[in-house]
Amino acid sequence: MNATAADARTNLFGLDRVGLERFFVEELDEKRFRAHQVMKWMYHRHVTDFEDMTDLGKALRAKLAERTHVTPPNVLHDKPSADGTHKWLLGMDARNAIETVYIPEKNRGTLCVSSQVGCGLNCSFCYTATQGFNRNLSAAEVIGQVWVAGRHLGNVPHGNRRLTNVVMMGMGEPLLNFDNVVTAMNIMRDDLGYGLANKRVTLSTSGVVPMIDRLSEACDVSLAVSLHAPDDALRTELVPINKKYPIAELLASCERYLARRKRSSVTFEYTLMQGVNDRPEHARALVKLLRGFTNRVQDANAAKVNLIPFNPFHGTRYARPTEAEIRTFQEILQKGDILAMVRRTRGDDIDAACGQLKGQVADRTRRQAQFLASLAKPREGVAHAVV
Ligand code: SF4
Repeated sequence: MNATAADARTNLFGLDRVGLERFFVEELDEKRFRAHQVMKWMYHRHVTDFEDMTDLGKALRAKLAERTHVTPPNVLHDKPSADGTHKWLLGMDARNAIETVYIPEKNRGTLCVSSQVGCGLNCSFCYTATQGFNRNLSAAEVIGQVWVAGRHLGNVPHGNRRLTNVVMMGMGEPLLNFDNVVTAMNIMRDDLGYGLANKRVTLSTSGVVPMIDRLSEACDVSLAVSLHAPDDALRTELVPINKKYPIAELLASCERYLARRKRSSVTFEYTLMQGVNDRPEHARALVKLLRGFTNRVQDANAAKVNLIPFNPFHGTRYARPTEAEIRTFQEILQKGDILAMVRRTRGDDIDAACGQLKGQVADRTRRQAQFLASLAKPREGVAHAVV
C-alpha cells in the first residue's frame, strides 16, 4: 500500500527506538524486539516495503501495512558536484521542498540536514532567511534526509560507512523544532539506526538560549553556535535573536552545556563578511571574548572557531573578504591561542555551499516578496550566512 498525502497511517520514520518499541507493544500488541527488526530493515538495509522484511511473519507484515508505512521524502532533484559534494532537493509535501547536502572529505562524509522549511529568525546575511518561515519538518522528514542520502551512497552503518557525521546546519533553526530534531538525532546515534557516535552529530544554533539548556538535558550531541560577531551591537545587526539572548547569556549557556554534557568544546561559526566583521579589530575582540570563555570553563581548547568566508548570493549587501584578509583574521585568532579553521567552500557548481541551501526551494512568504521587491532598490548596511 503506497502512502498518500492524507495518509492516516503512522510513518515509522517518525519514531525513534523508544517510540517504536512503545508503538509495537501498545498499538500493535507485538513484542518489543519486532521494532528492532524493523529498524534494522529501514536504516541498515534501506528497505521500506514490509513484504521485503523477510524475518517478520506474514500476519505482522499485513498488520504493519494496514496501520503504518515507511515513506522517505520525495527526491525532486539529485545533483552531484564535480568535487564529490552531492545535493538533493527533497519534496516534503505538495508545496514545500528542502535541500540536503553531502560533503565527502578524506576521512569522513558529512551530511548537512535541514530542520525547517525556511527560517523565521531573519539573520541578515542568510539566504534561507529571505524565504521566511514556512513550517517545521516532522521527525520523519528530518531523518528521511539521512535515509535518502544513506541509500544513495550505499551507506551501511556498521559496515561500509559513508555517512560518518551529520550536522544540523541546513535550513532552519533546529532548536525551534526541538522534539522532532531530538527524535531524529536519537535515530542517528542509535545502533539500530545510523550508529553515529554522539560527537559526530552536531546541532548548530543561532543561540536560542533556553533551548540550549533543554538540549543538554535531552540529548548528548556536539554543539555549534552561529556567533558571527564579537560584540552585541554588531551581532544583533547580523543575528537579530541576539537582542533577546545577548552574547553573555549565550556563552553562559554554552558553559552550562559543557558542564552538563562533558563535551570538550563548542564550535563557534563565524561568517566573514568584508568590511563588516572581518577587520583585525574584530578578530582581536573575538580573541578576548573567547579567551574569557575558555578561562571560565578552565580549558584552553574549549572554543573552536570555524571561519566561513561569506558566499555571496543575488541581492545580498555583503561581500566575501579576500584570501589575505581571511588569513590575517585567522592568524590573529591563532596567535591569541584560539583554534581557528577556515571552512572552504564546497559544491560551488551546484549551489551547495553555505548560505545557498535555499537553492531552488519555492518561495511563498510575504518576506520573500518583500526581499525580491527590495532588490530593485539600492541597499545599505550588511547581511548574515547560513551555517
Ligand atoms: S542563519 Fe540559520 S538561524 Fe539565521 S536565518 Fe539562516 S537558517 Fe535561520
